[in-house]
Amino acid sequence: MASRATHAGPAGGFHIAIVGAGISGICMGIQLKRAGIHNFTIYEREHAVGGTWRDNTYPGCGCDVPAFFYSFSFEQKSDWSRKFSLQPEILEYLHQCVDKYGLMPHISFGNAITHARFIPEDGLWVLTSARGDEVLANVLVSGCGQLNRPRYPDIDGLEAFEGTCFHSARWNHDHDLRGERVAVIGSGASAIQFVPEISPQLERLTLFQRTPNWVIPRQDRDYTSTQHWWLRWFPLARRLHRCFIYLWLESRWPAFSLGTRSANRFKQTATDDMCERVADVELTRRLIPDYPIGCKRILISDDYLEAVQADNVEVVTSPIERVTATGVETADGRSHRVDTLVLATGFESTRFLAPVEVVGKDGRRLDQTWVDGAEAYLGVTVAGFPNFFMCYGPNTNLGHNSIIFMIECQVRYILRCIEALRKRRLRYLDVREDAVAAYNGVLQRDMKKRVWEADCNSWYKTDAGKVTNNWGYSTVYYWWKTMKPDFSKFLQVGLDEVDVTACRVDLRSLPAKPPRRASSLAMEVSVP
Ligand code: NAP
Repeated sequence: MASRATHAGPAGGFHIAIVGAGISGICMGIQLKRAGIHNFTIYEREHAVGGTWRDNTYPGCGCDVPAFFYSFSFEQKSDWSRKFSLQPEILEYLHQCVDKYGLMPHISFGNAITHARFIPEDGLWVLTSARGDEVLANVLVSGCGQLNRPRYPDIDGLEAFEGTCFHSARWNHDHDLRGERVAVIGSGASAIQFVPEISPQLERLTLFQRTPNWVIPRQDRDYTSTQHWWLRWFPLARRLHRCFIYLWLESRWPAFSLGTRSANRFKQTATDDMCERVADVELTRRLIPDYPIGCKRILISDDYLEAVQADNVEVVTSPIERVTATGVETADGRSHRVDTLVLATGFESTRFLAPVEVVGKDGRRLDQTWVDGAEAYLGVTVAGFPNFFMCYGPNTNLGHNSIIFMIECQVRYILRCIEALRKRRLRYLDVREDAVAAYNGVLQRDMKKRVWEADCNSWYKTDAGKVTNNWGYSTVYYWWKTMKPDFSKFLQVGLDEVDVTACRVDLRSLPAKPPRRASSLAMEVSVP
């Protein structure tokens, strides 16, 4: 490994490495190209783009955010087939973006980054991939997302099950479920989408629900040909439609604060709706949660509550005791015989960046830094990990609006940091520890007022109850906070300067040094 490297990346020069070719990686790549920066590589573990939309292919898989706002602002599609698009259409859109902006030559497929170490003397990241490659990068961007590693439940006897067993995020399409007895463990966002799709063809579907979820109507519909005509030929109509969806989603934000009038009204409306849709009183009682709406992700569906009332479907709420060779045993002493077990048990959401071992400038590992729960400044940067930026990092997930909006804000912020690295002739930018601590102190304090702090378990929090996944304010506030980096919050180490991190000198107060020739930073950046 080179310790005093002078160039980075496969082609030399200022190189940006992006981990993951999902929505974040694609957005970052496109915006770099639009800014005139072409020396970047997207390292992708798999052999195709799309991230979660490539991995999740279960029947009925789709998005619970309207398509017109679950797409990039700079690449608006006018012919979404329906209000809430399904996975194949979203994946196709992402493929179209990759092709249109010429990202393919930038993607290194089947090349998972496993280790990243920062060399402060050089201002470079040394990246090691699973296949043994070693690459240098001036800037490292994570596009790993929060929902990319399936969580397998720790249930006694699971490995002894002799039927077919798979996770919903790794759907086994070779296995024919028709006429089978199927058990589904989990009743979250994935389960509610595939249960209505598969249940009609099964002999029996047993759904093991540990915690009930709030389910509200999706009100999905196809776009008509007249609507398509307007949306295609009148860009203003398209923009207004997008804007309307954004405002409609954002208008729900006040309902995500504990005890507000909108929260109470939202809960009452959802309760009334669920009571109306579920005929059986006993089943209604088991399906309606007792925690505030929004504490766990709100599920939207037009057919889930109807599907679980079918004669061949049973919702079991007695806790699972163990899995046996032939089925599932529950605490009430029942034994449920099944042919196939589908684990709809979600993702390792709080273990951000778990597949990559990231080592910062003092030799500290990111997972050690985050031992009490991940945190970052604006969800993008972490103190001690210079020139390292995250998309969809800690505390940037939403319960009420589109994550693509947040990712676009993050990408803009990162581009401005890259621009600063060049214009200020910096070796690295490192967010100050005190800035991160102050920011997270306020965030976690305000988080106490939000619904996800209520008494419910969810993938938004760690086992200790710290909310590490969700943003605690409106999206407008995030947009404003990430509009322009506040560089007073960063240590800015110049190309010729010594690293003075330990004595906490603000380098901006030092006299400017004459610029040194810096071939590695000689690229033009124009941020849109
Ligand atoms: P999830 O919402 O976290 O649901 C996991 C389910 O598995 C929960 O019902 C959970 O019960 C249950 N579970 C976990 N471990 C268990 C165990 N040991 N025993 C019994 N039950 C267990 O996961 P998901 O449904 O895959 O969805 C995760 C997230 O992915 C969503 O919230 C959403 O953000 C995203 N997603 C989005 C879409 C979309 O439309 N955009 C679609 C699918 C997924 P508890 O509730 O008791 O923990």
